[in-house]
Amino acid sequence: MNEHVLLGDEAVALGAVHAGLTAAYGYPGTPSTEIVEFLIRHAERHGRPLASWTTNEKTAYEAALGVSLAGRRTLVAMKHVGLNVAADPFINSALLDLGGGLVVVVADDPGMHSSQNGQDTRFYADFARTLCLEPANAQEAYDMTREAFDLSERFHVPAVIRLVTRLAHSRGVVRTGEARGQNPPRPAADRAAWTLLPSYARELWRGLLERQHELRAYTSRHGNTLSLADSRLGVVTCGIARNYYEENADDLPFLPSHLHIGAYPMPVDLLRRLVAHVDAVLVLEDGYPFVQRALGGVLTPPREVRGRQTGALPPDGELTPDVVRVALGLPLRAGLPPAALALPTRPPQLCAGCPHIDTFNTILKATRDLGARVTSDIGCYTLGALPPYSAVDSCVCMGASIGMAKGLADAGVRPALAVIGDSTFLHSGITPLVDAIAANTPMTVVIADNEVVAMTGGQPSAIPSSRMKRLLLGLGADPDHLHILDTHPKTVERNAEILRREIDHPGLSVIVTVRECIETARDRKRMRLAMAGATA
Ligand code: SF4
Repeated sequence: MNEHVLLGDEAVALGAVHAGLTAAYGYPGTPSTEIVEFLIRHAERHGRPLASWTTNEKTAYEAALGVSLAGRRTLVAMKHVGLNVAADPFINSALLDLGGGLVVVVADDPGMHSSQNGQDTRFYADFARTLCLEPANAQEAYDMTREAFDLSERFHVPAVIRLVTRLAHSRGVVRTGEARGQNPPRPAADRAAWTLLPSYARELWRGLLERQHELRAYTSRHGNTLSLADSRLGVVTCGIARNYYEENADDLPFLPSHLHIGAYPMPVDLLRRLVAHVDAVLVLEDGYPFVQRALGGVLTPPREVRGRQTGALPPDGELTPDVVRVALGLPLRAGLPPAALALPTRPPQLCAGCPHIDTFNTILKATRDLGARVTSDIGCYTLGALPPYSAVDSCVCMGASIGMAKGLADAGVRPALAVIGDSTFLHSGITPLVDAIAANTPMTVVIADNEVVAMTGGQPSAIPSSRMKRLLLGLGADPDHLHILDTHPKTVERNAEILRREIDHPGLSVIVTVRECIETARDRKRMRLAMAGATA
């Protein structure tokens, strides 16, 4: 047995390697990025597993399904909103007779530190009628990931690991076990079990429903612990919330009864036993009131249930030890009031020298006095919404800028512009652009191509800038209204003239502004100098 100090994300990745992982896929997204990064580094050093970034979460999931079809173990990682993109194959895959274990790691961001919403992946796992494991610390992240592969193969369903930001990005000591070898290739023999034709799918769906009893029987015995103590209060903790409860429990005047939930489907029998024993229940869960809502179906009235839905905990944001302390009725610990710790705030802004600054200056110059509406997308360039640029009107989800600009143009708004990064364009912008090309919509698409996924640390885009033009022509973009432009302070004036001309064009134009992210360019330069120093 070895000991390592690992991030929660890294513990998941190492657990997967030790479980005999053959291949992993993902699209970068905070707070899940470090999982695939760890696996890529591991593959560089040890030659396995295969680990790669994909164009988006849906393609990642589909590749993982192929590995499972081959009978081998696979992992797919994403942030919570990424599961919306992969929802189609994810939900459908629960019906398949999965061969090699398929583990879906989803890192939720309940505090919305770097996300457009705070959705809770436990609902998705429930919707798909599959297993979900929720670790409370890095050790459990390692252990549960290993176990998730076994469970996926035992129950033939995708097994979800739900992380939250605080766990994904905290370090802890992890004791590791013996590494297991990879599954030998063993492609599925039963084609009907992998083909969701309605006649097969109806049968597979019945099979999944029948397996619910086995899944519930499993989670009533594993991953969840019930300790019946004082009957005045029953505390339910989920995942990381256990740590916040344990930090405060010693200060309580009595020892409440406690159910910890780390595995779903919901352990309804354990909830019933807790509820039957206590007068009131407090549910501590990060994310949505998932367990609190389910309690409505198992309560013997009149029982009081406190949690996010009743105001005992704030309805949004992350849990913290202090929030939990207040919910337990304890006085806050003496210390500096939060106001005394307030640091000077700095509004988020593009890095000095960022190529997007020149792109936004180009757009502002070209659209001055035109009353243009500009839709934007997910990436560093979303900061163009803030002063001093205040250059965009919307940002909803990956790829939405192009579809929304098309909607604006269809609704008669002129000029309508979309701004999207190269990686986001490849992720989800291609399909709405196909619509706009097909309709020759009178709008202008600006692809701000910085050659990387900069926001998550500079992972490579799915294809390099040098191939963007061929891709756009292949999609059917009009070569007379397609421009690949260097973006730089010196080219702002010239580029704005081109953009202005294209805004006047009564059809679709595509402008690609190209310059590498200054941060990744600096990193590459540092790396080159270090390599040169090492070989001098
Ligand atoms: S990381 Fe790169 S793309 Fe993002 S703001 Fe900084 S320079 Fe611009």
